Amino acid sequence: KSRTAERFRLIEKSATYAVLDLVRRLRAEGRSVLDLGGGEPDFATPRHISDAAVGAIGEGRTHYTASRGLPELLTAVAEKLGKENGLTVDPAVNLIATPSAKHALFIALTTILDPDDDLLVPTPSWVSYGAMARLVGARPVAVELRGDEGFRITREALEHGRTGRTKAILLNNPNNPTGRVLSRAEAEVVAAFAVEHDLLIVTDEIYEKIRFDGGEHISVASMPGCADRTITVNGFSKAYAMTGWRLGYVAAPADIAAEMLKVQQHTVGCAGSFVQHGGVVALTGDQEPVRAMTEEYRARRDLIVGGLNSLPGIRCAPPEGALYVFPDIRGTRFADSQAFTEWLLREAGVAVTPGSAFGPGGEGHIRLSFATSRDVLEEAIDRMAGVLR
Ligand code: PLP
Repeated sequence: KSRTAERFRLIEKSATYAVLDLVRRLRAEGRSVLDLGGGEPDFATPRHISDAAVGAIGEGRTHYTASRGLPELLTAVAEKLGKENGLTVDPAVNLIATPSAKHALFIALTTILDPDDDLLVPTPSWVSYGAMARLVGARPVAVELRGDEGFRITREALEHGRTGRTKAILLNNPNNPTGRVLSRAEAEVVAAFAVEHDLLIVTDEIYEKIRFDGGEHISVASMPGCADRTITVNGFSKAYAMTGWRLGYVAAPADIAAEMLKVQQHTVGCAGSFVQHGGVVALTGDQEPVRAMTEEYRARRDLIVGGLNSLPGIRCAPPEGALYVFPDIRGTRFADSQAFTEWLLREAGVAVTPGSAFGPGGEGHIRLSFATSRDVLEEAIDRMAGVLR
């Protein structure tokens, strides 16, 4: 018998970490590599947030908090969700502050999925959803969305993936890697589908604040019939450039939240205490840095979309949100995104992520992150032009 659990056979290493490792290796060999693989904001965490956390350490707030989280933080989250997302939550019942949105997703999937349950995941999708479902023994079922239909979620696609074991559907809005923001029509499709088949919905809204075109952000929990079947995950990493802090939160119906709290209690206990103090100030303090960072991301998006569309064989639709472009590379001599990615890294020293890493629908595309400076983006386009022309 294998020393590791059976279920690990089906879990792949993270494709994005694989790109990172390769970049590190090439740089160690002295190569100049531009890294457009990761999805980490390059801005410093706004000063007032860092100061609050440092102040909390100085005041000795360095011990366990309630497993659910600091009451001040939960209250701030409840107010945010009420005001911005149309959700009515009781902070003492429906909310948990988690060490990262990733952990919020993990405790959500652990709580709702039995072994052999199916989780519908519209793809292309972030690499960790499927792996997390497998870690708890469940089965991720890809719902393939098509690039030539703008990666729109349709009723037909969802029906196609549904089985007798379908328990829940996972949404990521705005989406990594496609940059799509869920339209009201799509949210209605998802809501009606979930209600009709009595499914739970897990919605990952970590990129909520990073939207470019003034359209609305729809939290699906606010749709008719969805409040009592939706688990909403969000966090601080992207909006506030707080990736290293590891802080997120989750809002869930009372019965589900109660079981999720057990998972949190028996695994990490609670999110970091002074980290949570920083989180309070992030939510209740000046939001100008969020606006300014998003404005800069918008300029970078325009820069990279324009640059990519000037390259032969590459077509790039402008993303509506998140930190990535997901151009179609099928007009180049490469159909295979893995081969294209390896070639680009070798020939041009530009690291990107192959679309195939994001599941069905991703092949024929690559993902480039614009969470990096305009200079780097411009040089990356120049280098790509040099090898593609
Ligand atoms: N959800 C998505 C879609 C992401 O792309 C990421 C980070 O890349 C996360 C969640 C992770 O957020 P956190 O840093 O809070 O764990």
